Amino acid sequence: MQKFSGFNLFAKALGGHQDWQAQWRSPEPKAAYDVIIIGGGGHGLATAYYLAKEHGIRNVAILEKGWIGGGNTGRNTTIIRSNYLFDESAALYDHAVKLWEGLSQELNYNVMFSQRGVMMLAHTVHDVQSFKRHVHANRLNGVDNEWLTAEQAKEFCPPLNISPNTRYPVVGAALQRRAGVARHDAVAWGYARGADALGVDIIQNCEVTAIRRDASGAVSGVETTRGTIATRKIGVVTAGSTSLLMSMADVRMPLESYPLQALVSEPVKPVFPCVVMSNTIHAYISQSDKGEMVIGAGTDAYVSYSQTGGLHIATHTLDAICELVPMFRRLRMLRNWGGIVDVTPDRSPILGGTPVPGLYVNCGWGTGGFKATPGSGNVFAWHIAKGEPHRINAPFTLDRFRDGLMIDEAAAAAVAH
Ligand SMILES: Cc1cc2nc3c(=O)[nH]c(=O)nc-3n(C[C@H](O)[C@H](O)[C@H](O)COP(=O)(O)OP(=O)(O)OC[C@H]3O[C@@H](n4cnc5c(N)ncnc54)[C@H](O)[C@@H]3O)c2cc1C
Repeated sequence: MQKFSGFNLFAKALGGHQDWQAQWRSPEPKAAYDVIIIGGGGHGLATAYYLAKEHGIRNVAILEKGWIGGGNTGRNTTIIRSNYLFDESAALYDHAVKLWEGLSQELNYNVMFSQRGVMMLAHTVHDVQSFKRHVHANRLNGVDNEWLTAEQAKEFCPPLNISPNTRYPVVGAALQRRAGVARHDAVAWGYARGADALGVDIIQNCEVTAIRRDASGAVSGVETTRGTIATRKIGVVTAGSTSLLMSMADVRMPLESYPLQALVSEPVKPVFPCVVMSNTIHAYISQSDKGEMVIGAGTDAYVSYSQTGGLHIATHTLDAICELVPMFRRLRMLRNWGGIVDVTPDRSPILGGTPVPGLYVNCGWGTGGFKATPGSGNVFAWHIAKGEPHRINAPFTLDRFRDGLMIDEAAAAAVAH
């Protein structure tokens, strides 16, 4: 694999940057693989990378129906944090944050992870009680989170309006300083480059149309738009399309797929130093390195596979943002888009095996899976390689819907960006 370094940059500059090699190959699919990962988003790519890197399983293909990172990975607002309420969630998401902290070095690719702090605003007495409970629970789990008064919140983020004369006044905030954002497509590209260098085949424009099973019921391969491929292990990592894929193996999933949308403004000079989230009024704001304000909205009220989202959801979010940060009233919005998020009843992900031998699933990240990308891929690769869960993903298998051991981040946070 070519290495990115200051020296290499200088040396290639002398040649006019003409001889950089492609970041990953475009191989033809082989007849058979040890493991097939369906879905070339961040989670699928990370899974393949860790299968090859940590478990020595290199005869792996990632099958992606479009282009890598073209799903939710390339559509999200990139908020990364680990201040979830329950012990199981804190362990999973903080495992991810620890991997984020070394990811650019690990992949030799700048994923632009920026720990600028994520501040979650409280607007009501209920918010205050809930967030303080989060702060205490997080500290017990070794996850940083601190309570700020409204004045301290404004000090941390000066453009914030903390006037009490608003519809939803800011009455305090929970701040995770280690939290932040990363560059979404760089994450996909970095993992793709790393996985490819270890021998993983990344096959784009290859839609899986059926999952094959043998007489015992175990998986034996997939049918795709580029032919049939044999395998004894399949990892389905297809976010909003997971129910469709799993129905190919006759597995019914506890998932609903909703459109979730985001929008960006025209670029402006650096004015917004951190990430601000308001679950109560559904607004999520950060400023990209290009200067655009990156804004996340809530999910639509109805299930759908349309990658757009209702206009009234976006306008509701903008109403809230104009109240929270009045100077943004003068910003023009450049573009908006949607993704399809796969939502579980307890708003926690599903990571692990299924009733079908050889079939594994990684889904249910809903509105908040980007932040988990490295941790999710890391423990999912473990489960596929060893055939049993890692201690971190053990509570997140499908079994919890049978045993009733829900990890109810829905009640805890309402949304989970
Ligand atoms: C607008 C929006 C904002 C968000 N904001 C945040 C945020 O701020 N922070 C956060 O943590 N999370 C956020 N999320 C959620 C986050 O984006 C997802 O949880 C995460 O990116 C999921 O990654 P993935 O790799 O599982 O899925 P994806 O990136 O969606 O990848 C799945 C891939 O599967 C492919 N696929 C589907 N069907 C097939 C098939 N039949 N054959 C082959 N390939 C197939 C798709 O083309 C797709 O590329 C947001 C999501 C959206 C839509």
